[in-house]
Amino acid sequence: MSNDIKGLLSALVGEDAVRVADILLKNAEITDEKIVELVNEELSIKDVRKALYKLNDQSLARYRRQRDPETGYFVYWWKIERERLREMILQRRRAILKILKQRLEYEEENLLYKCENCNSQPLPFDDAFETEFLCKECNNPLVQLENEELIEQLRMKINELEKKIDDDLNGL
Ligand SMILES: [Zn+2]
Repeated sequence: MSNDIKGLLSALVGEDAVRVADILLKNAEITDEKIVELVNEELSIKDVRKALYKLNDQSLARYRRQRDPETGYFVYWWKIERERLREMILQRRRAILKILKQRLEYEEENLLYKCENCNSQPLPFDDAFETEFLCKECNNPLVQLENEELIEQLRMKINELEKKIDDDLNGL
């Protein structure tokens, strides 16, 4: 899992579940006890089970039970749902992309104007138009605020995200 995916997933299911999911990705099928072993017991069996249920809740992991013939207890074999994981990451990234695009659109459409003399609160186009682009306080001409930098940053972020939206999903 790339760090980017880990961060994204962590926001959705928590850090423990990300750790457990990472192990599930590397093992076709695995028991909860084996997972505890693989994290060097940094997570308790209780933590691991909680993480597994959380993943199961999001349909990111499923299990099959098998009765241990010796003890008579059930053993749970866990498996990651790769397709669902990919889909979830894609969905989240698309949502982020949408928010960034909306923000960009807003910034491009809503130019702000301010009086450099009074250092007043920036005004949207409609308000500036009303006073014929003159300051209400000192009558100085209002200047358009530069949001070019923010627009450029947003464009870069959008571009970056669009390019890599499913780049790191191949390794999953
Ligand atoms: Zn002014």
